Amino acid sequence: ALRTHDVRVAFHGNEVVRGVDLELRAGEWLGLIGPNGSGKSTYLRSLLGLVPRTGTVELGDGRVPDPTDLSFMPQAPELPPGMTVVEYVLLGRTAHLGWLRAESVQDRQIVTSVLRRLGLASFADRQVRSLSGGEAQRVVIARALTQQAPVLLLDEPTSALDVGHSVEVLEMVDELRHQDGLTVVAAMHDLGMAARYADRLLLLERGAPQALGCPEEVLDPALLTRVYGHPIRVV
Ligand code: ATP
Ligand code: MG
Repeated sequence: ALRTHDVRVAFHGNEVVRGVDLELRAGEWLGLIGPNGSGKSTYLRSLLGLVPRTGTVELGDGRVPDPTDLSFMPQAPELPPGMTVVEYVLLGRTAHLGWLRAESVQDRQIVTSVLRRLGLASFADRQVRSLSGGEAQRVVIARALTQQAPVLLLDEPTSALDVGHSVEVLEMVDELRHQDGLTVVAAMHDLGMAARYADRLLLLERGAPQALGCPEEVLDPALLTRVYGHPIRVV
């Protein structure tokens, strides 16, 4: 469903993503792990063309993905002032098309159902700027999910969520990939959650892939301890 070969990103001559090779099948969930600054966000952003990269990125059919092919939940989005939750989530149906088309009845229905699934129905008319950190994060996830692209890129989707809401969001994404074959690439700091939900993990260290494989292989205590710089054991 998604293939990247030798993806590299450099800022001012400093390479922060150093040759990422990946081949994901439809419905697969890849967990992107690694310490702060290891290049997880930059790699995700490079797939969307938000930062200049080299290497190749293509979909299963060999096409270069355009913004309609990839749903993206950024790590720290700016929430626009003066916009309600329902207006903001509707942007998932329209803004990625590169222009603001008028929303259809179907767009509204998709938004309503995603908000309901995420327990956000009662927030529909709230200003996005008035939400708590965790509420805002779920609204940003809702926006990405309403796009219904075949590939979902999530950057720390549960960093602001309590454990109950974390599981709720991750279970919903899990269901979508099993039901609809959604392919998921998610940067995740919680290695336990990553092990539980991802089929495979990619461990980055200063931009360089250190391990790619099933969670049991990648979450090797000695490897994690070396990369994270402290004794790490994931139960
Ligand atoms: P975190 O876990 O903290 O979110 P990350 O793995 O997502 O970290 P990135 O945000 O991808 O890390 O950053 C990788 C490196 O690239 C960091 O050293 C960061 O400072 C640097 N970097 C990211 N964006 C830019 C930019 N626009 N200009 C210069 N350096 C950048
Ligand atoms: Mg990041």
